[in-house]
Amino acid sequence: MLYMSIETINPTVNETLESFEEISEKSLEAALTLAQRAFGNWKITSYKHRADLLYQVAALMRANKESLAKLITLEMGKLIAQAEEEIDLSADIFDYYARHGARLLEDKALNPQYGKAFIRNSPIGIVLGIEPWNFPFYQVARFAAPNLMVGNTVLIKHASIVPQCAIAIQDLFKEASAPAGVYTNLLLSGKRATELVSDHRIKGVSLTGSEEAGASIAAAAGKNLKKSVLELGGNDAFIILEDADLDKTVDWAVVGRINNNGECCVASKRFIAVEAIADQFLEKFKDKLANLRVGDPMDRTTELGPLSSEAAVIHLEEQVQRSVEAGATVLLGGKRIDRPGAFMEPTILTDLKPGIVAYHEELFGPVASFYRVKDEQEAIDLANDSTYGLGCSVFTQNIERGKRIADQIDSGMVFINHPTWTQADLPFGGTKRSGYGRELSELGIEEFVNKKLIRISELNDPF
Ligand code: NAP
Repeated sequence: MLYMSIETINPTVNETLESFEEISEKSLEAALTLAQRAFGNWKITSYKHRADLLYQVAALMRANKESLAKLITLEMGKLIAQAEEEIDLSADIFDYYARHGARLLEDKALNPQYGKAFIRNSPIGIVLGIEPWNFPFYQVARFAAPNLMVGNTVLIKHASIVPQCAIAIQDLFKEASAPAGVYTNLLLSGKRATELVSDHRIKGVSLTGSEEAGASIAAAAGKNLKKSVLELGGNDAFIILEDADLDKTVDWAVVGRINNNGECCVASKRFIAVEAIADQFLEKFKDKLANLRVGDPMDRTTELGPLSSEAAVIHLEEQVQRSVEAGATVLLGGKRIDRPGAFMEPTILTDLKPGIVAYHEELFGPVASFYRVKDEQEAIDLANDSTYGLGCSVFTQNIERGKRIADQIDSGMVFINHPTWTQADLPFGGTKRSGYGRELSELGIEEFVNKKLIRISELNDPF
């Protein structure tokens, strides 16, 4: 078998730093056997014991924050301060499920016509998480922490461009004295991960990534009658109403678009302003994007770093070019930056309509699409005119108005007066082609459980 090479390529300078070998078939089989054996014990381990492991992992993350954050920045170009925030957020997630997991999973009493009954959340076995590179620690945390609390054992296939982050997380579990096989990182290609879904020992699969990868995993899961959760792309609208606080809204618009160098599934991507405020918004937004300090993500004064890879910047520039050829106007930027590394200019596109690439596709980087609409209703209709349905933001000083609009938006999450974001105790996920299922909160922790009915009868109860 030809194994894929898995490499760290620093996107700030496009330099290859490390290469790793994909796991062999023999080692993969050994990992599965170990994870299955570990499940036998882990499923009967107390919540307290499982929580102890999670607390320990969280503490180690915090203790090693600096070096772990540097790895993130090195492998995928995130600004160093944001990488540190990601480590904090990931540690918070481990702590949260350690502290609240048992409560979230506690038995639910039922009231049957006669006798007694309750629902118990039982673990199901080995679950496979296929994760993207854009939040190398957070993505793993939001899948692994709840599932380990449930009593499942976890296999992770991480994105091939962040192997050192993937290995570092495995090392944290080792240092926390996790029983062998409870958490296992697999250096594996996407193709082999899909094949792995058919293994009888794997009981569920969750993928965060592109639609193509999601469709491939959903097909494999369906064929093998397994539960799947998909967290896919988005083309989130950011609606600006005439009663929005303009300056604060512009500040959030910039954060919403360029946080993580623009590479967020829930980044604000389509800025939809009603006529009465559109010109003022656009002028200020353009001014702020044009003046961002672009540079080395390790430098704490940098405001915009590189994209995650050379392939990513080539793809994004191509999407912009194809949009322009089809009639879009470039109001700002539009090209990759003429310097080493995967840097893209902060960009604003206007004059977008159906049929143009940027109208339909997700633009993963610092490229904002701007739309001017007549009124609130047109803003809602345009926001909903997308195959995606992940997040959405509405900026208005009238919260009741914001809630009324939220009601009419077809997406998994709507944030009023904030870009869509995440925290340990809020559910995360989308509708339409953004996927199905949820991660985090009581919704996420219940995705891979057996909701087992336990019924207690008197011997003389009727049949
Ligand atoms: P991607 O190419 O789909 O990769 C994601 C993961 O899937 C990686 O581990 C990748 O492995 C694997 N993979 C790729 N093709 C596969 C296949 N055919 N079968 C099984 N696994 C496969 O996505 P990406 O470009 O890295 O990530 C960006 C996308 O993720 C964007 O669309 C973004 O919006 C989405 N995302 C969504 C969320 C959410 O919560 N909804 C969060 C973050 C990102 P390799 O690296 O080895 O190819």
